[in-house]
Amino acid sequence: MRTLIIPLTTLTTATTLLAQQPTPSPGVRYDRLLIRNALVIDGAGNPTRGPFDIVVEGSTIASIRPHRADANIRADRVIDATGMHVMPGIIDLHGHIMFSRNREPLPKDYVYKLWLGHGITTIREPGSGEGIDTVVHHARLSAENRIAAPTIIPYAVPGGTTPEQGRASVRRLKERGAMGLKVFVLRPDVWEAVMDEAHKLEFPVATDMKIQEYDALDAARLGVRTIEHWYGIPDAAIPGPQDFPEAYNYDNELDRFRWAGDLWRQADPDRLSSVLDTMLAHNVSWDPTLAVYEVNRDLVRAQNLPWFDAYAMPNLLAFFEPDPSRHGSYHFEWTTNDEVMWRENYQIWMKWVREYAARGGNVTVGSDAGFMYHLYGFGTIRELEFHREAGFHPIEVIQHATWNGAKALGLATTGVVRPGFEADLLVVDGNPLHNLKVLYGTGVTVEENGRMVRRGGVRFTIKDGIVFDAPALLEEVKQMVRQAKQRTAAP
Ligand SMILES: [Zn+2]
Repeated sequence: MRTLIIPLTTLTTATTLLAQQPTPSPGVRYDRLLIRNALVIDGAGNPTRGPFDIVVEGSTIASIRPHRADANIRADRVIDATGMHVMPGIIDLHGHIMFSRNREPLPKDYVYKLWLGHGITTIREPGSGEGIDTVVHHARLSAENRIAAPTIIPYAVPGGTTPEQGRASVRRLKERGAMGLKVFVLRPDVWEAVMDEAHKLEFPVATDMKIQEYDALDAARLGVRTIEHWYGIPDAAIPGPQDFPEAYNYDNELDRFRWAGDLWRQADPDRLSSVLDTMLAHNVSWDPTLAVYEVNRDLVRAQNLPWFDAYAMPNLLAFFEPDPSRHGSYHFEWTTNDEVMWRENYQIWMKWVREYAARGGNVTVGSDAGFMYHLYGFGTIRELEFHREAGFHPIEVIQHATWNGAKALGLATTGVVRPGFEADLLVVDGNPLHNLKVLYGTGVTVEENGRMVRRGGVRFTIKDGIVFDAPALLEEVKQMVRQAKQRTAAP
């Protein structure tokens, strides 16, 4: 047997790179939890009702009754929701779990606590970049309340350059516990094989199509469950190829993101209309992730968000800085003309998202945070504001973030505040229908009796009946950021 001698320098580096493990969950599930005197936004599109008393037994909503001050309801824990709103937990369909940025570790519960602190009770992991085994493991730890994290639904990316390899890869991912697939650019024959195998194994498929031979019409025909971002939709409605400048190179990140802002304008409206009908006929959900591209219409805003100071890890901010070697960090030259082009692009894009919903299409909320100045948790709430900007009623916006997400994921008993449903609930200080900003962890400043006071924020995030003190989780995040800054500042 040989003794392994590791040089001290390597050992130190290895220890530094080992991201801090998640701490044990502080959340508690009660036999009987009573949420008293709450106004309820149900998530299914109905107007606010209440005040109600909500009883949760274990992980299930047991009853919802009109509030009576003199009612004697037995409970192990009472949350007084007087003046507060209860809504379903938010489902983020595009939540990348990240344990490092800029080749430096993030504490492993940094992202989770930002999510829970913003009322996100379920995330679909679109790709499991940290490794499918790790993500499946964390999904289990979260389900067992051993870590403070949303419910995690791991999707994974199949590999292979031949149809047979593609099929084998899909089977392997199923065995390893993936709950769905995320498909990027594939050769048409590999696409067909992967989708065929996915259907045999009853695997739902999400696609981020980028630019390839196939477009949204093919995705719909092949039975894709969700289309991420917008890729493939305008492309399917452009007569001929995308009209990019002659020097365009897709593998140049600046070219790629800059000229993506011209595609909705190039699409023919009549053709777009029939592309949407095809998506609708095949029951495709559209997860537009509008807000992650906001940097393209207003770079200075994106770079100066008020929550960066307290909540953004230094290595995350460093990752966002322009650098051709990093994905999504392409703002080394971003001009007035680019921003104007993107603003126009947004108007057309939003119009078609609204049109899809108007025809009965399922529109969902996904953040894609961790890229392009888009912070976990905060980015999801910003996505809700973008849906509002797209012209949706606030009630519809909440529905996109809750019940529509559940439908896209095939979750029949969450996303609505309803007896018999899972207790994925938020107690919010304020009325998100009046102002979606009350959902931000930083809250809002309002005038009360002639004085300015801080209000808002999610007060409690209840995931599967487990009660989390949301501000306390966000305080822990602030602590992580303070410590990281001290380390960075240390000589
Ligand atoms: Zn993504």
